Amino acid sequence: MDKNLVVGAGITGAVIARKIAEELGEKVLLIDRRKTVAGNSYDYKDKETGITVHKYGPHIFHTNNKDVWDYLSKYTKWHYFFLKPNAVIEGEKVTLPFNLTTIRELFSPKMADSLEEKLISNYGYGVKLPILKLKENKDKELKFLAEYIYENVFKNYTMKQWGLNPEEIDPTVTARVPVYISHDNRYFQDKYQGIPQQGYTKMIENMISHKNIDIKLNTDYKKLKGTDFKRIFYTGAIDEFFDYKYGELPYRSLQFDIQILNKEFYQKTVVTNYPNNYDFTRITEHKYFLDEKSDKTIISIEYPEQFKKGINERYYPISNPETQTLYEKYSNEAKKYSNLHFCGRLGEYKYYNMDLAIEKAFELFNKIYS
Ligand code: FAD
Ligand code: UDP
Repeated sequence: MDKNLVVGAGITGAVIARKIAEELGEKVLLIDRRKTVAGNSYDYKDKETGITVHKYGPHIFHTNNKDVWDYLSKYTKWHYFFLKPNAVIEGEKVTLPFNLTTIRELFSPKMADSLEEKLISNYGYGVKLPILKLKENKDKELKFLAEYIYENVFKNYTMKQWGLNPEEIDPTVTARVPVYISHDNRYFQDKYQGIPQQGYTKMIENMISHKNIDIKLNTDYKKLKGTDFKRIFYTGAIDEFFDYKYGELPYRSLQFDIQILNKEFYQKTVVTNYPNNYDFTRITEHKYFLDEKSDKTIISIEYPEQFKKGINERYYPISNPETQTLYEKYSNEAKKYSNLHFCGRLGEYKYYNMDLAIEKAFELFNKIYS
């Protein structure tokens, strides 16, 4: 009973485990049912090419939270990196997020001048505007622009990714990639951005390497049932924990087609989005993350699909009033157990980026122990 259990060795589980081990001096058993640590931020160095591959899709760390950045910086040095993806629109690779540069890439100089002037006078320079907000504008030219961006960037990508139209999903999802009234071509504007110099897996390994942490991989929580722990921190899916007693929480999943190509480069940027064509959403070229040199290259092509229990992995919680109500039932059930805590993207059923997952892990730890 003197040991704590942390289920899931992703970034949330790793932070919680380290804090308990180091700050409280208590023992932790950290388990994961995968054979690897780092959860969905897991990366590995491909033996043939020496290229670091983000197995579960492109992961760029970005945050405005100095505490989170400083915390991770204890376990890694950083390769400073800004994501500048492209989107293919009408066969042309253009700047994403859609911004003033993109307008010049797609429209005549005269039209671009006029659209730029109208955007700035209506909203101001430097403003980030969700596409669904821009669509509400009544001005004829801005209405045309909004419709153009909606049709060419958001509608089909969202249909592929979520199986729904942008209006049918939580508006915060498309607002993650706003129309940016700026010439700043970066996907994120956070103060701190980077990729761990030796990869995410190494960073997590450093974090969980502590005399009070015992790590067991290939170990599902269900196999441990019957063992007593002082506290349990569960970063897996909350509905699965409770044997789906109120029904299943839905998720979107992905298939990654990872290919080694016999050429130095496949594309000019790390990520290219294909909103309108094909069944996949984006292609990632992994050597760009850490600026690695090889005469070969590795790409991964992302195909979205519905999550199916036992068939594929949970990647994206689907947030809407119905799923929130269902989640609340599980969350209320969890409150009946004073030593059981759910956290992370799956445990809280929230579309967290890594920085927010860490911030929430800090909050939970402080709430319990302060
Ligand atoms: P996870 O990484 O999902 O870890 C949970 C772990 O729990 C898993 O390893 C799982 O195997 C284990 N587990 C579950 N159930 C059990 C069980 N019953 N027994 C034992 N183990 C169990 N974030 C960013 O900040 N920047 C990005 O660029 C970015 N890109 C992304 C791209 C994609 C395609 C995806 C899917 C996510 C991306 N994210 C990004 C989000 C990021 O992956 C998450 O924020 C982060 O992984 C959350 O960490 P976590 O520990 O909460 O969950
Ligand atoms: N999105 C889109 N077109 C794009 C990029 C994003 O429609 O070219 C929408 C889509 O609904 C997507 C959401 O914006 O799911 C969030 O995109 P983000 O790049 O943040 O997704 P993630 O990296 O988390 O998969």
